[in-house]
Amino acid sequence: MNQPFRRIAIEEAFVTQEIADAWAEVLAGGAPHEPGFRKMGETILADSPGTRLIHQRLIDLGEGRLAHMDATGIDMQVISITSPGVQVFEAGLATALARHANDCLSAAVKAHPDRFAGLTAVAPQAPAKAAQEIERAAQQLGLKGVLINSHTFGEYMDDQKYWEIFEAAEANEAPIYLHPRTPSPVMIAPFLDYGLYFAGWGFTIETATHALRLIMGGVFDHFPKLKIILGHMGEGLPYWLQRLDNRYLLQVKIGAVEKMPRLPSEYFRDNFVITTSGVCSQPALRHALEVLGSDAILFAADYPYESVEEAVDFMDNAPIGEEDRRKIYQTNAKKLFRLS
Ligand code: MN
Repeated sequence: MNQPFRRIAIEEAFVTQEIADAWAEVLAGGAPHEPGFRKMGETILADSPGTRLIHQRLIDLGEGRLAHMDATGIDMQVISITSPGVQVFEAGLATALARHANDCLSAAVKAHPDRFAGLTAVAPQAPAKAAQEIERAAQQLGLKGVLINSHTFGEYMDDQKYWEIFEAAEANEAPIYLHPRTPSPVMIAPFLDYGLYFAGWGFTIETATHALRLIMGGVFDHFPKLKIILGHMGEGLPYWLQRLDNRYLLQVKIGAVEKMPRLPSEYFRDNFVITTSGVCSQPALRHALEVLGSDAILFAADYPYESVEEAVDFMDNAPIGEEDRRKIYQTNAKKLFRLS
C-alpha cells in the first residue's frame, strides 16, 4: 500500500435487527403516516435475493464489512444508521432503538478503532432525549457526529422545538449528516410514479429543501458553529447557489422575506460540507470544486447501496491535484470528525 492517503468513506450504512424488525411492523400496519416509506416497502425493500444481501451487509459490523473494505480499498468507514432509521416510530420506541443502535455501533468502533468510526442515531421526535443522546454518544461512546434522515413525520428542523438537538450538536462539536429519505407526506404525491420518490430524485428534493429551511429559518444565526453534511454532491445545491441568492434578494427587496445577516450561499459555504456519495460524475465534481473548493468536499461510497468499486475508481482517477484528492479522501474527514 503506497498510496499517499487513507481512503475514508463517510456515508456508510448499518442497521440493527431490532430496527429492521420494527420497520417490518410499521409496513405490516400499512404505514398510514408514512406514504414514502410505504412505497419503499412495496418496491425497493420488498424481499428478494438482492435485498437479503443488502440486509446481511447492513447488519454486519465485523468481519464481512472489513473484508468488503479490504477488497475495495476502503481504509476507514464512518458508519451511520440507514434511512429512515428510527424516524418512522413513535417517540419512546424510536429513542430506545436509537440508543441501542448507538451502543452496538460504539462496540464495533471500539473493536476496530483504526477501521471504523461512527455517527450517532437520534430520534428527533423526542428532542430533549435526542440532545441527551448526542451528549452521551460524544462523551461516553466515542461517536463522532450525528446522522438525521431528513423529515420526521413531515416536520423539518427549522421548527424551534428541535433546536436543542442543534444546541447539543454544536456544544459537542458533532457535525450533523442530513441524510435523505423519501419526500414528506404533504409533497410526495407527484413523486410516487415512475420511481421518482427514490434516490435518483425525491431523496434529493426532500433533503435539499430541508437544508434550505435550516438556512432560511435562522438556524445558523443561532448556532454559528454548527456543521451540516450533505451527501450526493450537496443534493444539487452547489449548482443552485447563485440563483438562490438572486431570488432571495428580490424577495427581500419587495418585503416578501426578511433580510438575514448573510446570503443563502454564504450560510451554505460557512456551515455546510458535501460528500461524493452516489455521484460518480467528473463534471459534477469539477463544479463542486469550483464553487466550494476542496476543503468542503469529502469522499463517501454509500455502502452497501452503491458500488464501492465505482466510487473508488471515480475518485482515484479524478483529474484533480493530488493535494485535493488527499483532502477529499482523508484530511477533511479527519478534521471534521476529529479522527486520530
Ligand atoms: Mn446513504
